[in-house]
Amino acid sequence: MKIAVMKEIHGGETRVPLIPSTVDKLVKLGAEVEVESGLGVTCRYEDADYEKAGAKINPDRQGMLKSADIVLRLRKPPIAEVELMKKGCIHISYLDPFNETELLDKLKTCGISAVSLEMLPRTTIAQKMDVLSSQANLGGYMAVILAMDQLDKIFPMMTTPAGTIKPARVFIIGVGVAGLQAIATARRMGARVEAFDTRPVVEEQVKSLGAKFVKIDLGETGQTKDGYAKQLTPEQVQKQKEGMAKACAQADVVITTAQLFGRPAPRIVDRAMIAQMQPGSVIVDMAVETGGNVEGSELDKVVEVEGVKVVGLGNLPGRVALTASQMYSANLANFVAHFWNKEEKKFNLNLDDEIIKGALMTHAGEIFSETYKSIVK
Ligand code: NAD
Repeated sequence: MKIAVMKEIHGGETRVPLIPSTVDKLVKLGAEVEVESGLGVTCRYEDADYEKAGAKINPDRQGMLKSADIVLRLRKPPIAEVELMKKGCIHISYLDPFNETELLDKLKTCGISAVSLEMLPRTTIAQKMDVLSSQANLGGYMAVILAMDQLDKIFPMMTTPAGTIKPARVFIIGVGVAGLQAIATARRMGARVEAFDTRPVVEEQVKSLGAKFVKIDLGETGQTKDGYAKQLTPEQVQKQKEGMAKACAQADVVITTAQLFGRPAPRIVDRAMIAQMQPGSVIVDMAVETGGNVEGSELDKVVEVEGVKVVGLGNLPGRVALTASQMYSANLANFVAHFWNKEEKKFNLNLDDEIIKGALMTHAGEIFSETYKSIVK
């Protein structure tokens, strides 16, 4: 089977879908790997590095797409490239399916078997392929680094001859993968950390990282079977805002990571709450790309709202592109390897497998994903 790995063309994307050491793994499975010329340039991987790992280098993007049995990339494909692919081609990447209905339609009508890596089930067996986790982890780390850079105070307590400096106070809203890494990173830097999530089950995890869990009684909140937060009622949102206002006002840094599966991010920090914070404090809105948790945050900008610096920079994992690429590449190869039949040297698209049932969006001219069908009506 021929696997084509496409160069990212989305402006500003620094990550690379496959790194040379992972090519080697795929070649050892018996796959024929073809990478687009210049694939690794943003991470300083040369074509020769890929060649050494066993890939064929191809400068002909269109030709590659036309002949591939499997296409690997990071971002969703440009719609114009979908019809270039062979019917039955397996396409594996992020797809942002709920916001890309036109793209999904095109993948469907062109007979592409399109896997959306965002839709992998959050199960133990799928952990090694979980791009959401690997990238969110780095995002959480970067959010703290950006906050430290913007804040005109230090994070750790310091006892010096010039006096004792108090530690910075950091408040993390949303304690999924990104939030947990943000807590751990801020703690490592010596900050005093508090955190809140609508899923009460995370309290123990917050405490185990040495942070304090802010308790707000919202009544029944719950989570989906995959562990995702459910949308709050307007009354619960109001209660949450009131409950968080004090923690925000006391914080030097607020980092928001709240997301809702298949929906825009909840708006949970409003201008009135920001106005209660000390001027010069910093908010990092990690949900800015999906609508934003913070009133006034702007994608790819640092803006000032009520004297507070609101950081809305997108693609945080792309700021540590080498590590992010290593992790994404490993996730991708683990996905391929999991379904690879070594004897036949082919990818076995097992439609009864739970992982495929979760992540396969289109197949044989139909929308395959039941989750997608239930959300996009
Ligand atoms: P996510 O990115 O969907 O959301 C981030 C966090 O925001 C979540 O913790 C969510 O509860 C929280 N949130 C949503 N609305 C909020 C609000 N109004 N206020 C405060 N917080 C709010 O989450 P994620 O990091 O993708 O993790 C989702 C789930 O998947 C978690 O339960 C996580 O433990 C689980 N998970 C499991 C595995 C695995 O077992 N393989 C791997 C990764 C994650």
